[in-house]
Amino acid sequence: MNKAVRKAIIAGNWKMNKTRPEAKELIEAIKPLVANAEGKVEVITCVPFTNLETAVAATAGSNIKVGAENVHFAKSGAFTGEISADMLVEVGVEYVVIGHSERRQYFGETDETVNKRTAAALAAGLKPIVCVGELKWERECNITEEVIARQIKLDLWEVSKEDVKKVVIAYEPVWAIGTGLTATPDQAQEVCAFIRAQLAKLYDEETAQAVTIQYGGSMNAGNAAELLAKPDIDGGLIGGASLKAPDFNTIVQAAVEG
Ligand code: PEP
Repeated sequence: MNKAVRKAIIAGNWKMNKTRPEAKELIEAIKPLVANAEGKVEVITCVPFTNLETAVAATAGSNIKVGAENVHFAKSGAFTGEISADMLVEVGVEYVVIGHSERRQYFGETDETVNKRTAAALAAGLKPIVCVGELKWERECNITEEVIARQIKLDLWEVSKEDVKKVVIAYEPVWAIGTGLTATPDQAQEVCAFIRAQLAKLYDEETAQAVTIQYGGSMNAGNAAELLAKPDIDGGLIGGASLKAPDFNTIVQAAVEG
């Protein structure tokens, strides 16, 4: 199995942006542009909780899937401000970003909570996009692989071989997110290949070959094609550039052609 048979996935992560009318407008602008990706590239918009219903309605009948940006691990209970996996499913959400570096950095996410959220998402039938990535300092100290291996092992702890094939891994070097600094295609490829090797160790080669691995970190209309041409980069998780329909579409088209 190789890249040609893995699912290519381009996902926008809108972060804390867009009101509901703005969300509808952006999705309506993206829809016709990416229609040709159907059957070739999975296109996802991950939006704030308040935009989920709007996004599900606006994407109905199109090839765009909707994702949330976080999920809690409990089924229900005293977790003020949190949203459960069942609540997301009820709204019509298919994907959920888990362990984004901004959640780890600003909201105390740990590998343990990322693992619990991943398990809860899978149990509810959601497809998790699990984010991993090293800090700038960790790269400078030459421990990128150590950090990534630990995150992969812990974040996917007790996730079965069948379930891990539903997980998307997003390699997002923290120093490249929202900074305009992008990992070079070779740097990104090196770590994505390392992630696949870790999956092969934890599961087996066939399973590792089936998992979609995205790169994220200042991916944009100008650099996407080169990144997506790499053999272990199966897609992208896009922040800033996902807020502009033409830029997001250029990235989707690069994946369609790549
Ligand atoms: C992200 O939010 O996951 C991301 C990669 O952001 P940006 O593309 O803006 O660096």
